[in-house]
Amino acid sequence: MTVTTRFAPSPTGNLHVGNIRTALHNWMFARANGGRFLLRIDDTDGARSEEHFVAAIRADLAWLGLNPDGEERQSARFGLYEARFEELKAAGRVYPAYETAQELELKRKVLLGRGLPPVYDRAALALTGEDRARLEAEGVRPHWRFKLDHDAMIEWDDMVRGPQRFDPRTMSDPVVRRADGSWLYLLPSVIDDIDMGISHVVRGEDHVSNTATQLQMFAALGAAAPRFAHEALLTGNEGKLSKRLGSLGIDHFRELGIEPEALIALLARLGTSDPVEPYVDPAPLVAGFDFARFGRAPARFDEEELAQLNARIVHQLGFDAVRERLPAGMTEAGWEAIRPNLSTVAEAADWWQVVEGPVTAEIAEEDRAFLAQAAGIAVTLDWANPWPALTGALKEATGRKGRALFLPLRLALTGREHGPDMAALLPLIGKENALDRLRSG
Ligand code: GLU
Repeated sequence: MTVTTRFAPSPTGNLHVGNIRTALHNWMFARANGGRFLLRIDDTDGARSEEHFVAAIRADLAWLGLNPDGEERQSARFGLYEARFEELKAAGRVYPAYETAQELELKRKVLLGRGLPPVYDRAALALTGEDRARLEAEGVRPHWRFKLDHDAMIEWDDMVRGPQRFDPRTMSDPVVRRADGSWLYLLPSVIDDIDMGISHVVRGEDHVSNTATQLQMFAALGAAAPRFAHEALLTGNEGKLSKRLGSLGIDHFRELGIEPEALIALLARLGTSDPVEPYVDPAPLVAGFDFARFGRAPARFDEEELAQLNARIVHQLGFDAVRERLPAGMTEAGWEAIRPNLSTVAEAADWWQVVEGPVTAEIAEEDRAFLAQAAGIAVTLDWANPWPALTGALKEATGRKGRALFLPLRLALTGREHGPDMAALLPLIGKENALDRLRSG
């Protein structure tokens, strides 16, 4: 069996961290099994779908490096849905229902008031041909329900949740098509999963009860069902489902300077007991990817954890990976000297400005003579590896050591008390600049 997964967002908004995780896991599982990863744009809802969201979804996946092996759009597949719907109609597995939303709501309330589960009573199934003709003559257009098979217990072995069991008699026959002919999500998704040869459906646990009804749709359409993995949802820092998570998209992370590798490294392992580690290359994460490692408890998405992971990723990025985002003129040696001090790539510009100057520093009175002495030694050095030579000679000459030796030099040379390793920085600053800075102290 070829593993084929699909990521199926509705283009009614931007991807948020929950969807991104779903996309990633679909991609990882396909890659781990030598399979295919497809993008399916779920745009059956023409009123709510927007073209710019489709473009944003593609761009976000590209930025993450999650490149689909193919793309389908539900709005281009209505002919297929129509044909398969006709088959279900002929087999009596979908039926027209004429209740208004208000009537259905009333039925629900009555059942709930009697302490019963609000399951649809199938009144529409009892209508005669005459009843239907009369209703349609009155201008009432039906919506369509899928008729669950009450005699077949619904069971599947979920790759995350383990064995699942639903009694179809406790469930309402789901509405699959609206009175205006438009499709609800459930049935087109099954038709597509069959047609696209989807072997594994990976999605959030909010879809578990949809799966129960969809499994019967696969059977009614004569297809074997795919395997399912329903993942526990993400929670925010506060430990509950947060609105904030739903608004955290790629734009937000990019603005903060988060690298795609950091998001991937975090979301690949969040919810497992494996440690989150700063992988720049996702290959080891992919190789070890296994739904059995995911727990059933909600996983906590922590932006601070992401920021820290991001810094550890940045510290490993090679010059070629970042050069287009670095200030003009910044060299490979410059990047390597500065990189260990960065939380984001954008911060490299600040440190490059320190290298290139000008810098200003407030020098304490008692350090002025010391710095003049430093300039006197610096001028004699050949600058191949100036920092140990300069500090070694100054220590000898002045008896200063530790902070008293290093801090005034760092301050005069960089204008700051902290920063990258001076041994790496000083060659970049260059002899001329360094002498100027020491003398102006
Ligand atoms: N469009 C559906 C959603 O975004 C897809 C769910 C699925 O993966 O089947 O919830």
